[in-house]
Formats: sequence, structure tokens, C-alpha cells
Amino acid sequence: MSDRRGFTLWFTGLSGAGKSTIADLVGPELERRGVLVDYLDGDVVRTHLSKGLGFSKEDRDTNINRIGWVASRLTRAGAVTLVSAISPYRDTRADARRMVEEFGPFVEVFVDTSVEECANRDVKGLYAKAFAGEIKEFTGVSDPYEAPEDPEIHIRTESQTPEQSAAEVVAALEARGLIGQAVGA
Ligand code: ADP
Repeated sequence: MSDRRGFTLWFTGLSGAGKSTIADLVGPELERRGVLVDYLDGDVVRTHLSKGLGFSKEDRDTNINRIGWVASRLTRAGAVTLVSAISPYRDTRADARRMVEEFGPFVEVFVDTSVEECANRDVKGLYAKAFAGEIKEFTGVSDPYEAPEDPEIHIRTESQTPEQSAAEVVAALEARGLIGQAVGA
């Protein structure tokens, strides 16, 4: 057994909120502290692990349950797992939390960005289509998003750069004693 303690950092928020961007900045910072980092990005997962699933409540729940299960295994193995998935349902996130917490801490990061701001950014061009009614079941527009009530970390991206948001996450992990100082810092 390694004495290194794994944990899962679970980014939840609307499409375009900034989950992947922040995870991609936080990951290398954690690697500099000598931890093994793994990523489970919702868009990537849907191309293999969850290929064929759609966006009904049932399929969304199946997708999140799969991600939660893999995150729990990686946490058990001592990795720090960065999950970026809309994960719109509170109960389903709670199920993922229960699976992970069998083996290590689950840190929920609410990437809080309004629908209006996400639509302004419209990174993938999806909001324009959703507002035009071309995409059904689009989270925040025509499908629910249940915001976390008590997340471990709450990031408000509209008043920050991605670098500031990532620094806030890293500082919160340090404050919780989950990571040490960067080597050479
Ligand atoms: P998601 O993974 O949540 O769907 P992305 O990370 O793909 O979202 O896109 C978020 C977009 O918002 C990027 O273009 C990013 O540059 C921009 N952005 C602006 N401010 C922030 C911030 N503080 N944190 C994260 N992303 C931000």
C-alpha cells in the first residue's frame, strides 16, 4: 500500500462554466507536488466509457454513476482524480460522493457561472442552438441544473481569470491538508 492518499476533485457546473479549463490548470499544479493525477472529463468519457448514452435523466445518471465508480477505484489506488462533468442532479452527485468516500475524500467544486455568461462565452456554439430549440434537454436552458447547496469549494468564474480560479482551488486543497506545498516553492 502506498502511503499517498488519493482523493477526488469533482467539478460540477453548466456547459462552458469552466470545469475543464480549471481542471487543466489545477492538474499540473498537483503534479508539481508529486501526486499522480488522472482526469475524467465528461466530454471524453462520453466518447468511450459512456458511448451511446444520451441526455435523458436516466442516461445522465448512468453516465455519472460510471464516472463515480471509476473515480472511486482511482481514489482507492491513491490517485488524485479530477472529474469535470456537468453532473446536474444533486442525488446522483451524492451517490458518486458515497462511492468515492469509501476510499478517500470527495471534494465538490461548484464552478458557478450563470447561464447568461455561459451563453456569452458559448465555447462550443451549443447555447445558440439550445436557445433556437435545436438541442433538446440542454442543461440550464431546457433541462435542470441543481446547484450544490454546500460544496467544499465554490468558484465564481465571472469575476476571475481561469488562473485565479485554479489558484483558489489549489489554495483550498492546501488549507484542507489534502496537498502539500509545491516542490521548490
Ligand atoms: P466546461 O468544461 O465547464 O464545459 P470549458 O472549460 O470548456 O467549460 O470552457 C470555459 C470557458 O470559459 C473557456 O473558454 C475559459 O477560457 C472561459 N473562462 C473565463 N473565465 C474563466 C474562469 N475564471 N475559469 C474558467 N474558465 C473561464
